Amino acid sequence: MSNYDLVVIGGGSGGVATANRASSYGAKVALIEKGRMGGTCVNVGCVPKKIMWSAASLHEAVTEAKNYGFDAQINGLDWAKLKDQRDNYIQRLNAGYERGLDGNKVEVIKGEAVFESKNTVIVGEERFESSRILIATGGYPVIPEVAGAHLGITSDGFFELEHQPKKVAVVGAGYIAVEFSGLLNALGSDVSLFLRRKNFLRHFDHSIRASLMEEMEKDGVRIVKNTAIKELMSHNCTLSLKSTSDEIHTDFEEVIWAVGRTPNTHTLNLKSTGVRTTKSGHVTVNKYQETNIPGIYAVGDITGHHELTPVAIAAGRRLADRLFNGQEDRHLAYENIPTVIFSHPPIGTVGLTEEEAIEKFGNSNVRVYESQFKPMHYAFNPDGPRCLMKLIVAGPEEQVIGCHGIGMGMDEMMQGFAVAVRMGATKKDFDDTVAIHPTAAEEMVTMKTSRAAENNK
Ligand code: FAD
Ligand code: NDP
Repeated sequence: MSNYDLVVIGGGSGGVATANRASSYGAKVALIEKGRMGGTCVNVGCVPKKIMWSAASLHEAVTEAKNYGFDAQINGLDWAKLKDQRDNYIQRLNAGYERGLDGNKVEVIKGEAVFESKNTVIVGEERFESSRILIATGGYPVIPEVAGAHLGITSDGFFELEHQPKKVAVVGAGYIAVEFSGLLNALGSDVSLFLRRKNFLRHFDHSIRASLMEEMEKDGVRIVKNTAIKELMSHNCTLSLKSTSDEIHTDFEEVIWAVGRTPNTHTLNLKSTGVRTTKSGHVTVNKYQETNIPGIYAVGDITGHHELTPVAIAAGRRLADRLFNGQEDRHLAYENIPTVIFSHPPIGTVGLTEEEAIEKFGNSNVRVYESQFKPMHYAFNPDGPRCLMKLIVAGPEEQVIGCHGIGMGMDEMMQGFAVAVRMGATKKDFDDTVAIHPTAAEEMVTMKTSRAAENNK
């Protein structure tokens, strides 16, 4: 039996960040990981996805270069080379994470952790005891319970593909569905995106998601709306989808399920601890990341709030600050968390959507500034993707409570605006900020006219 100041279960974004920060304060920390170090983000999430998005963006750039007079042409993509380089890059990151933990004197244990009691975790034959245990076990992709579902792959399977699928069906309506559809389409695959409702990205601002749908359809993604899938079938090495209204969509090389993720709680033997979970299996925590059992904490995707890498990291580091560095009230405020969807074009957003603003402040207290334009980058392309920017302001002082955009560069642009929104900037602060010209970003500080807020739910 080994005794620690902190035992961390899960070597993903949240677990690694917490372990390193706790250890930097002198705590004796063990981190247990059953798979590759770095978790979802590094191995089957943000990192390989961003590399694929960058590849797709390069493809788009070469196509656009022709409009500038370049004799540019893409004769093919060596998918196997791209995958190989991506895998090697990830292996280097895995090793970097291990080195970082080692440098911080975190003891890394390889294996699957199971609770024995509220103070003890077992890995194989070994027992690890601590009065503080952190659950940071993340989640895994859902495969829906429909006939033949196993014929499809998830985001994990996508990153194992050895060659580019020519014709793909993506089923789902969230981040992964739009990101994968966009990047595969930009790389030249024939993509159909199946939505069970009429919209995707239901929880995002309506103007932004409408704009993305328009751009994706213009780019050639076939968006099949109001179509729930009830069966997957295989014929002559191709896959077909049957909808609940018995329409059949045929000839797909791959079907990608992108219908959400499930928390990794069921194998932890949480009942031996009494830790409370929600119906979906997420661990319930308060604002200090504390579960209902004293000494057991949870951060990251396992808690089901804002399933994003920087959120898991921020919550974990703040928890370590509080437990091991005397920062008594240190915790993550889960408001104004910025996020980017690496769609084509990308979306950046922070703060309230128009609908949320109306709900919180009332129709008459909310106004909306909006600007739509073609970025100069596409000056020679009549069909070039447009940019939409939107500021939602509240009260007579016009505090900016929502900042949303879609268009080229939005992924890099939003971080700075998130600082302004978090600090409570008003529209006047935006107006008083000198523009940077010629950029798309300058539109964010030069919007003149506003309209009343409207509910488009
Ligand atoms: P994870 O990173 O999932 O880590 C949990 C770890 O716990 C895993 O390594 C797992 O093996 C381990 N584990 C589980 N159970 C046990 C056990 N019993 N014993 C030992 N170890 C265990 N977020 C962004 O911010 N930006 C993006 O661009 C982005 N893109 C994404 C793209 C995709 C395709 C996906 C799937 C996710 C993406 N995310 C993105 C989300 C991001 O990856 C997660 O929010 C983040 O990884 C959560 O970190 P975590 O520490 O909570 O969990
Ligand atoms: P999401 O939760 O974002 O979206 C899944 C959506 O799929 C649901 O909201 C639902 O939308 C739809 N859906 C659910 N079940 C079905 C079904 N049976 N058939 C058809 N559609 C269905 O999940 P993702 O898997 O896309 O991503 C998981 C999380 O990972 C994200 O929420 C995000 O936090 C994180 N992530 C972050 C990224 C980033 O930061 N750029 C990128 C990728 C992931 P509806 O109810 O409207 O039909």
